Amino acid sequence: MSAATPDSCLFCKIVAGDIPADVVAQNDDAVAFRDVDPQAPTHVLVVPRSHYADASALADGEPGTVAVLVSLARDVAQGDGLDDYRLVFNTGPGAGQTVFHTHLHLLGGRAMTWPPG
Ligand code: 5GP
Ligand code: ZN
Repeated sequence: MSAATPDSCLFCKIVAGDIPADVVAQNDDAVAFRDVDPQAPTHVLVVPRSHYADASALADGEPGTVAVLVSLARDVAQGDGLDDYRLVFNTGPGAGQTVFHTHLHLLGGRAMTWPPG
């Protein structure tokens, strides 16, 4: 669980259309929008419409939506002409999570190194 609640959650507000975002794809379960501080030529966040704090909570609460996030990310990658890309769920502050509404990072358009920082 996180301290964020649906009333205070940034990504819930983006999903609701109350805060503007560059939305690139959406369906009944998820919304994809470009990251405001892109770390690659393509950097898109794919989020469930429902509020869950992280990927683990989403997997417990709406397991099918985890697959929706991955397939929507693939569609966005293909739309940006990407054959290769990276998908990341930062889970917990120690792993770099700063927004506690599940989001799948889609990163691509440049060479990716491993391990990530
Ligand atoms: P995290 O660090 O939680 O894995 O990822 C949060 C991401 O949300 C960051 O990459 C950050 O740049 C992005 N972000 C934060 N605030 C906003 C915003 O208001 N709009 C958009 N489009 N992205 C945001
Ligand atoms: Zn939320």
